[in-house]
Amino acid sequence: KEKRYDYLIVGAGLFGSVFAHEMTKRNKKCLVIDKRDHLGGNVYCEQKEGMNIHKYGAHIFHTNDKKIWDYVNQFAVFNNYINSPLSLSKGKLYNLPFNMNTFYQLWGTKTPTEAKKIIDKQIQEYGVESPKNLEEQALSLVGKDIYETFIKEYTEKQWGKKATELPAFIIKRLPVRFTYDNNYFNDRYQGIPVGGYNTIIDGLLRDIETRVGVDFFESREELESLADKVVYTGKIDEFFEYKYGQLEYRSLRFEHELHDMNNYQGNAVVNYNDTSYPYTRIIEHKHFEFGKQDKTIITKEYPENWNKDKEAYYPINNDKNQTIFKKYREESKLSENYIFGGRLAEYRYYDMHQIIGSSLAKVGEISKDK
Ligand code: UDP
Repeated sequence: KEKRYDYLIVGAGLFGSVFAHEMTKRNKKCLVIDKRDHLGGNVYCEQKEGMNIHKYGAHIFHTNDKKIWDYVNQFAVFNNYINSPLSLSKGKLYNLPFNMNTFYQLWGTKTPTEAKKIIDKQIQEYGVESPKNLEEQALSLVGKDIYETFIKEYTEKQWGKKATELPAFIIKRLPVRFTYDNNYFNDRYQGIPVGGYNTIIDGLLRDIETRVGVDFFESREELESLADKVVYTGKIDEFFEYKYGQLEYRSLRFEHELHDMNNYQGNAVVNYNDTSYPYTRIIEHKHFEFGKQDKTIITKEYPENWNKDKEAYYPINNDKNQTIFKKYREESKLSENYIFGGRLAEYRYYDMHQIIGSSLAKVGEISKDK
């Protein structure tokens, strides 16, 4: 039977959209489907009151890789937004990431030597040589004060688990700096696409057939019969009908509020680090784009337990889940007709630039052996 498409792409997030774009350029016919009623996956923004609302959480693009930067710049102009979040902990405001400003606010230290002395002393007192969990990792990297002010409660709230029960690698994302530099990321390139992330998705999927509101699992056979190969970007355990067990995720609930004022918190991102607040962050969307609107929309981000009816945001990459995931991954390698990629199919805590990189790599891998 004649197949109408070379690729059926399940999921219109960044992995699927980049894949579809690249394969279309290589004269392959693609159909992209998504169960949501919009394209773009979690980078999708909703337009309200003249602002782009990051509906699935703050997305700040950053990369060190010139190739990836040039790639996204084909589709949008980026503004010069630099992420400099604030932290509210036990009634006091601090700069993030941990840098000389934070150390001044914490201890009154004014020079790198003074700050280093305190941190080194605390690392010696509380750190361990080979950290086995997030708590030990944090104490070994930054010592007790920073751990207790910024990390312990935020992390336990975020993940719903004790810091001693979480893998150490989560905290490796947090930079510590001995300069007065509030730029959260160390990467060379950073910004928010002018016109919002939808501009990039629209650019990627222009001239490609897409269908939204289509659940792959509701008509799997029919959909699969349309194409030679299937690119699946959803949850890998669901694809295999949970045969090796269910993978765990952490979910989030976003509460959006419209305020009749032009500036609510003076910054795009404020972290709420202690447990007296049920949310981890408040995002004020207009500040991502230096908005001058009369009103403002903020979003409170509440961590939540995940179940099958909720969005799966963060994979919980502990040993138990990794063991299950490896079984699915082995099985996923058995058929050439299925390609798996993206945060949910690879069960990885990915940033946007990494997803784009992994999609481009996958296309490269496939196109070379033809
Ligand atoms: N984290 C923390 N305090 C903070 C920000 C982050 O302890 O103020 C820890 C926390 O464990 C979190 C991890 O660092 O899960 C990664 O946070 P980041 O904000 O980099 O990632 P995101 O949640 O935005 O993907």
